[in-house]
Amino acid sequence: MTQPSRLALLVGGGLDACAAPEIATRLRGAGYEVQVVLTDAARQLLTPAAFRLAGSEPVDTVPAGIPLLLCPADEAVAKKMASLPALGPVAGLGETSAAFPAFAREDALLAARWLCSTRLLAGRTVLITAGPTAEDIDPVRFITNRSTGRMGIALATTAACLGARTILVHGPLSLRCPPLPGLVAIPVRGAREMHETVLGRVHQCDAAILCAAVADFTPPETAGQKLKKAGRDELTLSLVRTPDILASLGALSPRPYLVGFAAETHDLERYARDKLERKNCDLICANDIAAADSGFAVPTNRLTIFRRDQPPIPLPLLDKEDAAARILQLVAGHLPA
Ligand code: C5P
Repeated sequence: MTQPSRLALLVGGGLDACAAPEIATRLRGAGYEVQVVLTDAARQLLTPAAFRLAGSEPVDTVPAGIPLLLCPADEAVAKKMASLPALGPVAGLGETSAAFPAFAREDALLAARWLCSTRLLAGRTVLITAGPTAEDIDPVRFITNRSTGRMGIALATTAACLGARTILVHGPLSLRCPPLPGLVAIPVRGAREMHETVLGRVHQCDAAILCAAVADFTPPETAGQKLKKAGRDELTLSLVRTPDILASLGALSPRPYLVGFAAETHDLERYARDKLERKNCDLICANDIAAADSGFAVPTNRLTIFRRDQPPIPLPLLDKEDAAARILQLVAGHLPA
């Protein structure tokens, strides 16, 4: 997805501002053109030479409408902001009482991404499931799988950057879900809890993208006490089927625009088309998990997107973030005006 990649970094005084040259360097490293504006307070702490070294010669003013990142978002910076031409989107680094979103200093790249994204999904609500589920056997043991939640987090991050109200229902994650305006993360544990949580929210949603690796089987109930090995040579676990969340949403009428995932080691197309029909969804994003660079616990995916009555869309090997952007673009194009 191409997005504008020019932003202004408006730097103030205080300890937080000392990180500004490094933040400018990181933003430039990520491909942003950074226009640095220094307040008087900033000039007493940092010389323009520090920014010149970072590759961004400070300027006195910026073009109207340019996305603006304030570092930090204090009063002096807000005053300087008021003297700039008509403002584009604004975000602050560090705590702020102002009306615009604040990001942690470590999240400067995320702030830049949010600032520079188009708002393709403004006014829409998107529900996403992510991660594995954990099916409890007893108070200390559970059954889970290799999902880290990376693809679902990429989808949620991208949806929120595109302006959607984003509801992320996730099992235990090994990765952080970044805080973003409009993104609500709801942690759950087992498949049944995920099912209930999703069904409780789905009526608010324009689209649902079910990316979680939901356990297919779970113990019928969780033992109240730790199972002891003493006196046993064997233990047979009995498991029952979990509710199929995707199929439950597919059976709703009306239902949101519905996207499922398929992770297969063989016969990708046959299984994907079968899921489209059986679970009544609009898109199935199928993942060849036999390849080492695609699927669980790697940052990249090679997806083929299957649609009803239309040819499949093969995507090249992409970062999960870029794959998420392609999926959400397709979804946006199918939502009623
Ligand atoms: O049938 P299979 O598990 O391969 O289907 C995968 C798709 O269905 C994924 O989108 C997954 O999130 C969803 N699913 C679900 N609830 C289940 C099992 C799978 O929502 N119990």
